[in-house]
Amino acid sequence: MFDKILIANRGEIALRIHRACREMGIATVAVHSEADANAMHVKLADESVCIGPPPAGRSYLHVPAIIAAAEVTGAQAIHPGYGFLSENARFAEIVEAHGLTFIGPKPETIRLMGDKITAKQAAVNAGIPVVPGSDGAITDMTEARKVAKAIGFPVLIKAASGGGGRGMKVAENEASLESALQTASSEAKAAFGDGAVYIEKYLGKPRHIEIQVMADEHGHVIHLGERDCSLQRRHQKVLEEAPSVALDAASRAKIGKTVTDAVKAIGYRGAGTVEFLYENGEFYFIEMNTRLQVEHPVTEAITGVDLVREQIRVAAGLELGLTQDQVKINGWSIECRINAENPSTFTPSPGKVTEFHAPGGLGVRLDSGLYAGYTIPPYYDSMIGKLIVHGRDRHEALMRLKRALGEMVVGGVETTIPLHQALLEEPAFLSGDYHIRWLESWLADRAKA
Ligand code: ADP
Repeated sequence: MFDKILIANRGEIALRIHRACREMGIATVAVHSEADANAMHVKLADESVCIGPPPAGRSYLHVPAIIAAAEVTGAQAIHPGYGFLSENARFAEIVEAHGLTFIGPKPETIRLMGDKITAKQAAVNAGIPVVPGSDGAITDMTEARKVAKAIGFPVLIKAASGGGGRGMKVAENEASLESALQTASSEAKAAFGDGAVYIEKYLGKPRHIEIQVMADEHGHVIHLGERDCSLQRRHQKVLEEAPSVALDAASRAKIGKTVTDAVKAIGYRGAGTVEFLYENGEFYFIEMNTRLQVEHPVTEAITGVDLVREQIRVAAGLELGLTQDQVKINGWSIECRINAENPSTFTPSPGKVTEFHAPGGLGVRLDSGLYAGYTIPPYYDSMIGKLIVHGRDRHEALMRLKRALGEMVVGGVETTIPLHQALLEEPAFLSGDYHIRWLESWLADRAKA
C-alpha cells in the first residue's frame, strides 16, 4: 500500500480523497493555486505545495508543476479526483512515466472512452445497447441526411470530445440539419480542439440512469447499482438519487450484468460509470466516465462501500474488497449540489462566507470545504458543497433532506439552497415522476410566475 498520495484537485473532492487516505493511514499532499492557499483541502493535508497562479490552466491543469510536487514530497501515487486532469490519458501516461501510480484506469482505456465515437463503438462491440445514430463521425451532408432520415427527426448532433453538457445541438428537421452540424462542429473545435461530431436520435423524455462499476486487476468486476441523475439544467446534474424509482431489483440485476460483462471485456481497472438514457423500459448507452463522479456518495450511502478507498486499493494492486454477492442495496439516498449562485438566475456569487452552519444528525453527510471566513474564489466551478442524505426509504430521505437544508446556513454569498427547498415542495419531484427535461421546464415556469 502507498505511504503518501498527492491529490491533484481542489474543493470538496480533494477533501473527500484526503478523508479516505486518512482512514487508510496514508499521508496526503495537497496541491493548490495561489487563490486556494486558505482552502480546507490545504489546511487538512499533511503537506501542501503551491503549484501556480489562480487560472486552472496555470495550476490545477499544469502537469509539470504537479509532477514536480509529487517528486519533491515523495508521493507514490496521484489521485486526480473529477474534472481537471482526471480524464486526461496523456497525464496518466506522464504520471506512470515518472514511476508514480495514477489512481484510475489505464491510459489506453481513458483514451478509448474519452472519444465518444470510439466509446460508443466499444460499447456496441461489448454488447451494450446504444442510442441509434451514425456509426462514426459525420463528415458530409449527404451522409448526415441519410442517417437523420433513417433514425427520424429530431436528432442530436454531439461532439466526439464533448463533456460537461457542451457541444450538443438539436436539429428538429432537415432544414435545420446543416446549420446545427456546422454550429456543433465549430463550437466543439473551439471548446475541445476537435470538431468531430456524430448524430444520435434525440430522445424525448428519458431518464438519465448510470451504473457504478469497480474493477481490479485480478479480473474481478462488480457493479454497485444505479444512480438517477435526471434532474438537470443545461445537461448538468443538479440533484441525484439512488436507487432510481424507475428500476426494480430484476432490471437492476439485468443491466448490472450487461455492464459488468462489458467492463470485463474491455479490461477495465478502477472506478467507472456507464451512463444511459432510459426510456420505455429500454437502456441506451451515452458515455462512460473513467473516474470518480461528483454524485458517488449516494452509491456509498446505499451500499456502505467507500469508493475512494476501493480506488486506492485497486491502484495498489489489491483485489476488490467485496464480491457482487456482498453488494446490498440498503435504503434510499439523495444528493443535492449546492452552488454559490443566485438560485433564480444562476449567476455565480463568489466572495466571503460570513456565516456557516453545517446540518447534521442521523443520515446526513455534507461534503464541503466551506467554513466561516472562507473566501470563495471566482476562478473555479461554483459548486461549494454536496448535501447527501440517507433514509430507510425515499420518503424518509426526502423528509431528511428538507430538514437538513433548513438547518444549513451559508451567509455572505448566494446559494442554490432555496432552489432545492422549492424542488422539495414540488409534487412531480416528490412522486419521482420526472425526466431529463422536467427541471428546465419547471424552472422556466417559475421564472414566468
Ligand atoms: P456530457 O459528456 O457533455 O455530459 P452526455 O453524452 O453524458 O454528455 O450527455 C449529457 C446529457 O445530455 C444527458 O444526461 C442528457 O440529458 C442529454 N443527452 C445526451 N444524449 C442525448 C440524446 N441522444 N437524446 C436526448 N438527450 C441527450
